[in-house]
Amino acid sequence: MDQFLMRKQFLMISDNLKQVNSRIDSIQSNHDVQLIAVSKTRSVSEIQEAFDAGQTHFGENYLQESLDKISYFKGTGLVWHFIGPIQSNKTASIAENFDWVHSVDRVKIAKRLSDQRNPNLGKLNLLIQVNVDKEETKSGVFIEQVDEIVSEIISLPHICLRGFMCIPQAENSTNSFSEMKNLISKYPTLGSLSMGMSSDLEVAIENGANLVRVGTDIFGQRSYN
Ligand SMILES: *Cc1c(COP(=O)(O)O)cnc(C)c1O
Repeated sequence: MDQFLMRKQFLMISDNLKQVNSRIDSIQSNHDVQLIAVSKTRSVSEIQEAFDAGQTHFGENYLQESLDKISYFKGTGLVWHFIGPIQSNKTASIAENFDWVHSVDRVKIAKRLSDQRNPNLGKLNLLIQVNVDKEETKSGVFIEQVDEIVSEIISLPHICLRGFMCIPQAENSTNSFSEMKNLISKYPTLGSLSMGMSSDLEVAIENGANLVRVGTDIFGQRSYN
């Protein structure tokens, strides 16, 4: 990529961040919202550009590609969120390198993360992924199963259970967000709701989201090749 194109792309990221932040600020809500920049497929220099523009929380889906990025930024204060599917042979590395995990839907995974978390790092923040629309293609527990999994995870020693995450169907996200709002209201000790992406962050925040995960509207369209 030549110098000009690179500069143009860098400028775009900070402009995009401003826009996303002002969309967040434009929503009337009485809670704080943390923007997570979803940096899957993105390079260290793209993350650096977002960081230079003030962004500190980043989300990654694929462990392998995230590790180099995390180690590059070690000691800079970036906060890393794991938001992708979790295989049980990857839990040690996730527990060691991430601050938050959004995508837990099995007690077995939560137990492994707790066992493998180095206590010196403090507790690992954890969200239970809820398959709010009961889609076959998506991970997550059904709403009816939440109570049981919460009661098992909440007592794990090196985990801090914070709340819930969902990825609703695009067509029906308003209803799904409001179901999630209703769900978390039943758990007074859980305060974190991770929902809302580039296309629907406003509705998510109106329904109580306080962690929004935005990729495309910050970094542009992803290409996977
Ligand atoms: C990729 C991804 C996002 C970001 O989606 P955009 O539409 O690019 O904003 C958010 N959450 C999860 C779980 C993702 O995999």
